[in-house]
Amino acid sequence: MEVYTMAEKKKKRKAQRQSWKPHWTLRILKRLWLIAFGAFKIALGAAATVAIIVGVCAVILVGSVGDYLEDEILSQVETEEKDYGLNLNSYMYYLDENGDIQKLQNIFAENNREWADYEDIPEDLIHATVAIEDKRFFEHQGVDWITTVKACFFMFFGNGDRGGSTVTQQLVKNVTDNWSVTVQRKVQEIFTAIEYERRYSKEEIMEWYLNEIYMGNRTNGVRMAASIYFGKELESLTLAECASLISITNNPSLYNPYRDTLDAGGMNGRERNRERQLDTLNEMLAQGWITQEEYDEAVVQELVFKRGIAPEDRMAKCPNEACGYKGIVSTLTHAEEDDMRYCPNCGGKIPVGEDASQEVYSYYVDTALEEVAQAFAERDGVEWNDTAKRFYKQKIASGGYHIYTCLDMRVQNALDLIYQDLSQIPAVRSGQQPQSAMVIIDNSTGDIVALIGGVGTDKVHDGQNRAVDSKLQTGSSIKPLTVYGPGFESGAISPATVVKDMPQKYNNGVGWPKNDNRKYSYSRTIYSAITSSVNAVAVNTLELIGTSYSYNFAKEQLGLTSLLDSYTAASGQIMSDDDYAPLALGAQTKGLTVKEMANAFAVFPNNGIYREARTFIRVYDHNGNMVLENEQEIHEAFSEKTANYMHYCLAAAVGGTGGNARISGQNVYGKTGTTASNKDRWFCGYTKYYTAAVWFGFDTPEVVNLVMGNGNNPAGILFSKVLSQVHQGLPKAELIDYSKLRWTSVCLDSGKLATEACTMDVRSADGIQRTQAAMVYPGDQPSQYCDKHISVDYCSGGGVACEYCKLFAELEESTGVKAKIEKKTLVKLTVEELEELRKAKTNGLQPEYLRDDYIYLVDKNGKDAIFKGIEGTANPKVDAPYLVCPVHTKEAWEEYQKSVEKEEDPEDTEDPDDPGKPDDSTEPAEPTQPADPTVPEEDDGGVG
Ligand SMILES: [Zn+2]
Ligand SMILES: [Zn+2]
Ligand SMILES: [Zn+2]
Repeated sequence: MEVYTMAEKKKKRKAQRQSWKPHWTLRILKRLWLIAFGAFKIALGAAATVAIIVGVCAVILVGSVGDYLEDEILSQVETEEKDYGLNLNSYMYYLDENGDIQKLQNIFAENNREWADYEDIPEDLIHATVAIEDKRFFEHQGVDWITTVKACFFMFFGNGDRGGSTVTQQLVKNVTDNWSVTVQRKVQEIFTAIEYERRYSKEEIMEWYLNEIYMGNRTNGVRMAASIYFGKELESLTLAECASLISITNNPSLYNPYRDTLDAGGMNGRERNRERQLDTLNEMLAQGWITQEEYDEAVVQELVFKRGIAPEDRMAKCPNEACGYKGIVSTLTHAEEDDMRYCPNCGGKIPVGEDASQEVYSYYVDTALEEVAQAFAERDGVEWNDTAKRFYKQKIASGGYHIYTCLDMRVQNALDLIYQDLSQIPAVRSGQQPQSAMVIIDNSTGDIVALIGGVGTDKVHDGQNRAVDSKLQTGSSIKPLTVYGPGFESGAISPATVVKDMPQKYNNGVGWPKNDNRKYSYSRTIYSAITSSVNAVAVNTLELIGTSYSYNFAKEQLGLTSLLDSYTAASGQIMSDDDYAPLALGAQTKGLTVKEMANAFAVFPNNGIYREARTFIRVYDHNGNMVLENEQEIHEAFSEKTANYMHYCLAAAVGGTGGNARISGQNVYGKTGTTASNKDRWFCGYTKYYTAAVWFGFDTPEVVNLVMGNGNNPAGILFSKVLSQVHQGLPKAELIDYSKLRWTSVCLDSGKLATEACTMDVRSADGIQRTQAAMVYPGDQPSQYCDKHISVDYCSGGGVACEYCKLFAELEESTGVKAKIEKKTLVKLTVEELEELRKAKTNGLQPEYLRDDYIYLVDKNGKDAIFKGIEGTANPKVDAPYLVCPVHTKEAWEEYQKSVEKEEDPEDTEDPDDPGKPDDSTEPAEPTQPADPTVPEEDDGGVG
């Protein structure tokens, strides 16, 4: 058992560093370097370095290197005041309702479990790194000129590109966004390395490097690697293990001890790793980092590779700052409490539970912390990934910063009140606790004033924050952002535009997309489609504007940056969000975050102006200098008209599918969403005052089966519960500007202005209205009147009247067989449209659109075609563009004539009830018609 104290470690390291004797050539070169560099350091430091670079690389580089250096590189190398290594806590603040600054949270360094502080990294690991990767690390100024000259020399002879990179340069390469040009990258890498050396201490660079390096098995950093390869805490690694671990990073697939496959040299990963481990140990011995005894011991140690750290192998740290003892849990003496041990150093108690030493931050603080970290990374040109996240969070936690957040405690409290009380969360039938996340934006500022990333009070710091980390499929809640918003904006549609409510395409006769109720109703206005969340209309509308227009709009105008250009699924299939299902139905490859959805919806109540939603505004350093200002990115995404249309449609959607989201005494505008498998439920909506996006689902996805019934939207319910509280005392406010809107009535068959003819559609007798009204801006109404409804003499027999219908029509009412003929309208359909109906027939097209008696068939020139019915069985004897009355045929008339003759014969009176077909004809048209056309023939034969 080893006892570590920080002071001791520091002393030890200093001694070791001083004991190192550099090679004489190096000492001379170093002296030369220091003289050269020192001379120019203050005024001409950068220029001198440029000169050296140019000198070294002149043979290789051709062209206007000088100009390039001056313009591209020197401008980027600015030294900043070093604000690292302060070990000061940071603080977060918010403004209370009186505008006074209140403290929200202390940010401590101890809260970062995956990060390895320099103090915790074994000396042997640091020395192994230096020995094998960069032997002059503690001496050089970021660039090792000896190896650089060598590398340039080899490069000149076309021999390899690796080598010559110091740990600092490797770090720069690893953390910096890729530059496109190779020469530029190399030169900039050198300059940035020198800059890092000025800004950071050697310890900080080494710490960052060892936390950053890729260690194979999707792991970055030595702390995680120690756990994955040796099942140990980093602090517990032996010299042999340190040498093995650092050997992996040179080529993580080759030296990965878990690689069982043989490489070109016939060796597995463990054998390769052993080879390089010995190289490392030899270098350490040669460079004087270890003694011969240490070397001998390490060489014979048999390595045991093991994944994951057992609880008893965890490192526990004495909470007593002055003591600072650290030790493996299994070596400590039990205290009375199960998750407590006694400190052998000071006698105090050491907590050993999973998260014993970690303070829990709220989801809001977590989010703000991460955004600040990201802003720092952006400032430094560092690529944003998990390691950068850990590095900058660590830097914030110890850098003494003052962070001003956008939190509104009143709103956050309302949110916490509901989400932390599990009885408020809609219950499900399965045992799994449903999860939910919500982000609330204040429409007056566009800032995030409250957010929550999960239900209940159990929160693990840096655990899953479902409000900002989770990519979730959005279902229909995406439609206003990617279909209808861009559709209004492009001018392709208005709320009164009629779009087909039929499948867009067929796979082996099966139509896609399906509507939620599995039914299609031929066509709808956009207004009605939004109200009822109709998938087919969304897809067909997207077809009008094009997926690329929508995709680019979403990414560039609405900040939906989680949409993916290209994504390779586990199956190897390459998918993209630039497609119908992701954009029109919300079936994205990965999904979007709750925060992204809230941010994008907040554009509508802000009159179409996008503002990047922030959680923090400014960051000051410990001296009171502002080091970060989080300026809102602002641009116009939608016109005022589009925003007004959206208020109008989304108010109706809340009246329709989004009923659960209503707030008493307040107007709500919004859209529900349900993913295809019913695993995620959404509501995204807004009032004049606030915008919120809500997700409801499970961490382990399963079908949402609500106790209260799936007709309810649990996300809408949570929206209403929280936002009702938040809106208390706020006056009811309307966002729709009705003064700009005019009613217009459109024909659902032609999409043009409705005429009286449209209301006289044959189907209207069954209550099928072929006109719909919606409100639009003047000028957005269709410019033409319907030309699809065509007036005909329509017989009560259920088809267009023929000459016999007219004969029947002239009979007396008392005959009981009198036909009624009225003016009604048929719909002119083209042959292609008829084909479309036939294809949709077995896919859930509502029966009223499959009737034969309303269709007037024309060819592509608009000339009469011959209509044989949707099934191909109507009009067996008549070639007409429409269904002719099937009842009053020539045969029926002759039969009627015969029956009249018989009636006039007094000896033949016993058949008054024989109705034949004529009797039926007095009934209004039956919905099940057309009657089987073979029936009259059979009757005929029977009588004859
Ligand atoms: Zn202690
Ligand atoms: Zn019409
Ligand atoms: Zn008739």
